[in-house]
Amino acid sequence: MPPCGESNPPTGRFVRAGRGASLGSMSCIFCKIAAGEAPADVVYQDDRVLAFRDLAPQAPVHVLVIPREHVDSADELEDPDVAAALLSGARKVAQLEGLTAGYRLVTNVRTHGCQSVGHLHFHVLGGAQLGGSLAG
Ligand code: AMP
Repeated sequence: MPPCGESNPPTGRFVRAGRGASLGSMSCIFCKIAAGEAPADVVYQDDRVLAFRDLAPQAPVHVLVIPREHVDSADELEDPDVAAALLSGARKVAQLEGLTAGYRLVTNVRTHGCQSVGHLHFHVLGGAQLGGSLAG
Protein backbone atom coordinates (compact mmCIF):
# COMPACT_ATOMS: atom_id res chain seq x y z
CA MET A 1 0.00 0.00 0.00
CA PRO A 2 1.36 3.45 -0.80
CA PRO A 3 2.28 5.39 2.34
CA CYS A 4 -0.49 7.93 1.99
CA GLY A 5 -3.23 5.54 0.91
CA GLU A 6 -4.66 5.03 -2.55
CA SER A 7 -7.64 7.25 -2.00
CA ASN A 8 -5.48 10.19 -1.12
CA PRO A 9 -2.18 10.03 -2.97
CA PRO A 10 0.38 12.79 -2.53
CA THR A 11 0.83 14.84 -5.65
CA GLY A 12 4.58 15.00 -5.13
CA ARG A 13 4.67 18.55 -6.40
CA PHE A 14 4.39 21.40 -4.03
CA VAL A 15 4.56 24.89 -5.40
CA ARG A 16 5.80 27.16 -2.68
CA ALA A 17 4.18 30.54 -3.06
CA GLY A 18 6.86 32.37 -1.10
CA ARG A 19 6.21 35.05 1.44
CA GLY A 20 3.70 37.58 0.22
CA ALA A 21 3.18 35.87 -3.13
CA SER A 22 0.04 33.91 -3.79
CA LEU A 23 0.15 31.31 -6.46
CA GLY A 24 -2.78 29.97 -4.53
CA SER A 25 -5.44 32.22 -5.92
CA MET A 26 -4.60 31.13 -9.47
CA SER A 27 -4.24 27.40 -9.02
CA CYS A 28 -5.39 26.32 -5.58
CA ILE A 29 -8.73 24.52 -5.19
CA PHE A 30 -9.10 25.67 -1.58
CA CYS A 31 -8.50 29.30 -2.61
CA LYS A 32 -11.25 28.84 -5.18
CA ILE A 33 -13.57 27.47 -2.50
CA ALA A 34 -12.71 30.38 -0.20
CA ALA A 35 -13.46 32.80 -3.05
CA GLY A 36 -16.80 31.11 -3.78
CA GLU A 37 -15.53 30.00 -7.20
CA ALA A 38 -15.73 26.27 -6.45
CA PRO A 39 -18.48 24.40 -4.59
CA ALA A 40 -18.20 23.24 -1.00
CA ASP A 41 -20.52 22.12 1.78
CA VAL A 42 -19.69 24.93 4.17
CA VAL A 43 -20.40 24.35 7.85
CA TYR A 44 -18.78 27.45 9.35
CA GLN A 45 -17.14 30.65 8.17
CA ASP A 46 -15.92 33.95 9.52
CA ASP A 47 -13.70 36.72 8.23
CA ARG A 48 -10.49 34.64 8.52
CA VAL A 49 -11.45 30.97 8.09
CA LEU A 50 -13.81 28.70 6.23
CA ALA A 51 -14.85 25.15 7.22
CA PHE A 52 -16.38 22.68 4.80
CA ARG A 53 -17.01 18.94 4.56
CA ASP A 54 -14.26 16.75 3.12
CA LEU A 55 -15.12 15.24 -0.28
CA ALA A 56 -13.83 11.83 0.85
CA PRO A 57 -14.76 11.61 4.54
CA GLN A 58 -12.68 9.33 6.74
CA ALA A 59 -14.98 9.57 9.76
CA PRO A 60 -18.72 10.26 10.25
CA VAL A 61 -17.77 13.91 10.69
CA HIS A 62 -14.85 15.08 8.56
CA VAL A 63 -14.57 18.82 8.11
CA LEU A 64 -11.64 20.86 6.80
CA VAL A 65 -10.82 24.23 8.33
CA ILE A 66 -8.79 26.54 6.09
CA PRO A 67 -7.52 30.10 6.26
CA ARG A 68 -9.12 32.38 3.69
CA GLU A 69 -5.67 33.65 2.75
CA HIS A 70 -3.35 31.20 1.02
CA VAL A 71 -0.75 29.56 3.27
CA ASP A 72 0.99 26.47 1.88
CA SER A 73 1.03 24.45 5.10
CA ALA A 74 1.32 24.74 8.88
CA ASP A 75 5.07 25.01 8.35
CA GLU A 76 4.57 28.35 6.58
CA LEU A 77 2.03 29.74 9.04
CA GLU A 78 3.47 32.91 10.53
CA ASP A 79 0.48 35.04 11.47
CA PRO A 80 -0.59 34.25 15.05
CA ASP A 81 -4.02 35.71 14.40
CA VAL A 82 -4.60 33.21 11.60
CA ALA A 83 -3.32 30.37 13.81
CA ALA A 84 -5.74 31.39 16.55
CA ALA A 85 -8.60 31.73 14.08
CA LEU A 86 -7.97 28.22 12.73
CA LEU A 87 -8.03 26.66 16.20
CA SER A 88 -11.07 28.67 17.15
CA GLY A 89 -12.76 27.65 13.88
CA ALA A 90 -12.02 23.98 14.55
CA ARG A 91 -13.54 24.29 18.01
CA LYS A 92 -16.59 25.99 16.52
CA VAL A 93 -16.98 23.14 14.02
CA ALA A 94 -16.80 20.60 16.85
CA GLN A 95 -19.53 22.47 18.71
CA LEU A 96 -21.73 22.79 15.63
CA GLU A 97 -21.29 19.10 14.78
CA GLY A 98 -21.98 17.96 18.33
CA LEU A 99 -18.60 16.35 18.91
CA THR A 100 -18.96 16.42 22.68
CA ALA A 101 -17.24 13.03 23.13
CA GLY A 102 -14.12 14.34 21.41
CA TYR A 103 -12.51 14.56 18.04
CA ARG A 104 -9.15 14.55 16.29
CA LEU A 105 -7.53 17.67 14.86
CA VAL A 106 -4.90 16.89 12.22
CA THR A 107 -2.83 18.86 9.78
CA ASN A 108 -0.53 17.15 7.30
CA VAL A 109 2.64 18.89 6.12
CA ARG A 110 4.19 18.31 2.68
CA THR A 111 5.14 14.96 1.20
CA HIS A 112 6.17 12.92 4.24
CA GLY A 113 3.10 14.18 6.07
CA CYS A 114 0.88 13.03 3.17
CA GLN A 115 -0.39 16.54 2.43
CA SER A 116 -2.23 16.34 -0.89
CA VAL A 117 -3.67 19.87 -1.12
CA GLY A 118 -1.08 22.62 -0.79
CA HIS A 119 -3.27 25.06 1.15
CA LEU A 120 -3.08 24.79 4.92
CA HIS A 121 -6.03 22.91 6.38
CA PHE A 122 -6.94 21.24 9.64
CA HIS A 123 -8.98 18.04 9.49
CA VAL A 124 -11.66 17.84 12.18
CA LEU A 125 -12.49 14.14 12.51
CA GLY A 126 -15.10 12.70 14.83
CA GLY A 127 -18.56 11.30 15.30
CA ALA A 128 -17.28 7.84 16.29
CA GLN A 129 -14.45 6.27 18.29
CA LEU A 130 -11.30 6.80 16.23
CA GLY A 131 -8.32 4.43 16.10
CA GLY A 132 -5.49 4.86 18.54
CA SER A 133 -2.65 5.15 16.06
CA LEU A 134 -1.54 8.67 15.21
CA ALA A 135 0.62 7.57 12.27
CA GLY A 136 -1.75 4.97 10.87
P1 AMP B 1 -4.49 16.30 2.93
O1 AMP B 1 -4.25 14.97 2.29
O2 AMP B 1 -4.15 16.36 4.37
O3 AMP B 1 -3.83 17.41 2.12
O4 AMP B 1 -6.04 16.55 2.88
C1 AMP B 1 -6.69 17.05 1.76
C2 AMP B 1 -8.13 16.69 1.89
O5 AMP B 1 -8.87 17.52 1.01
C3 AMP B 1 -8.46 15.26 1.52
O6 AMP B 1 -9.06 14.60 2.63
C4 AMP B 1 -9.43 15.39 0.34
O7 AMP B 1 -10.44 14.43 0.37
C5 AMP B 1 -9.96 16.79 0.54
N1 AMP B 1 -10.41 17.50 -0.65
C6 AMP B 1 -9.73 17.66 -1.82
N2 AMP B 1 -10.43 18.43 -2.66
C7 AMP B 1 -11.57 18.78 -2.00
C8 AMP B 1 -12.71 19.57 -2.33
N3 AMP B 1 -12.82 20.17 -3.52
N4 AMP B 1 -13.70 19.70 -1.41
C9 AMP B 1 -13.60 19.08 -0.21
N5 AMP B 1 -12.54 18.33 0.16
C10 AMP B 1 -11.55 18.17 -0.72
